[in-house]
Amino acid sequence: MKKIAVLTSGGDAPGMNACIRAVVRTGIFNGLEVIGIMRGYSGLINGELKEMTLSSVADIIQRGGTILRTARCPEFTKPEGRAIAAKVLKDNGIEGLVVIGGDGSFRGAQLLSQEHGVNTIGIPGTIDNDIASTDYSIGFFTAVNTALDAINKIRDTMTSHERGSIIEVMGRHCGNIALYAGIAGGAEIILVPEIPFDMDDLVDRIREGQARGKLHNIIVLAEGVCSAYELLDRIKERLPELDFRATILGHIQRGGSPTAFDRVLASQMGARAVELLLQGKTCRVIGMKKNKLVDFDVDEALAMEREFDMDMYNLSKILSI
Ligand code: ADP
Repeated sequence: MKKIAVLTSGGDAPGMNACIRAVVRTGIFNGLEVIGIMRGYSGLINGELKEMTLSSVADIIQRGGTILRTARCPEFTKPEGRAIAAKVLKDNGIEGLVVIGGDGSFRGAQLLSQEHGVNTIGIPGTIDNDIASTDYSIGFFTAVNTALDAINKIRDTMTSHERGSIIEVMGRHCGNIALYAGIAGGAEIILVPEIPFDMDDLVDRIREGQARGKLHNIIVLAEGVCSAYELLDRIKERLPELDFRATILGHIQRGGSPTAFDRVLASQMGARAVELLLQGKTCRVIGMKKNKLVDFDVDEALAMEREFDMDMYNLSKILSI
């Protein structure tokens, strides 16, 4: 193998740049030519390629977002779209492709391998931490820290005004950002899509907190449960005497300088992807399990069931009494 390429696909996540840097530098270190593909699969189909050099990835390890940009590409989900993508790779002599993204991006990479013989390796990059084949995905802890920073700030003003607060965080169908940011931020209540919540129980817990003279009432709500405004209406209906406010953190959670953990994880995963390509491997997805870098066959990785951390959830309940 002489030439490989790297792209970022799906939603962006802080740490993707650190990962691109690791792919490029490990590739060049091993005598490979490395091509950056702009705008995910869409840029691949359109032939938006650029030669990466050691200096093209200088000064990016600390930056959020992705210098290669990212996109969603419906055309790539069709065999015709993938055939064009494969031709672009073949015409440019690219034999290996590193895809940084989520489950959807991995599925696309696998099809490209199976249909056109391109060697592909997937790296989990998403703030949601919803990929079963890794304990942590690139960007997750940075998003947790961003949410935590917001919780700290909201807590100050809520305490001053003796208000309650609902803080909606991202994560799609996954409650991990809410769980980690909620525990770290000392939230009174954490609501996640994995555990159905009961409104009576929620109201009781808020009342108990009030009776105990709690200074604040912070509810961290995962977006996969419902919207913060919907919950606010339901709380107002049941507890009209209390002053609750809703805040939706939104895309702030997708940006910012990656944490040390995300940079290190991204660096390790990027380097491993190149090593796997050099060993002639394909259709593999990299993960971090029990602090060890691992890789799985894509089918195996995508068939895994994500386990919600019940111990962590139970701990959050104990600590918020
Ligand atoms: P993520 O990779 O974060 O899960 P998406 O599901 O949006 O994000 O996938 C990103 C891109 O990967 C899509 O726009 C599409 O081009 C490609 N993709 C997703 N699912 C498939 C699939 N089943 N087959 C082929 N390509 C896919």
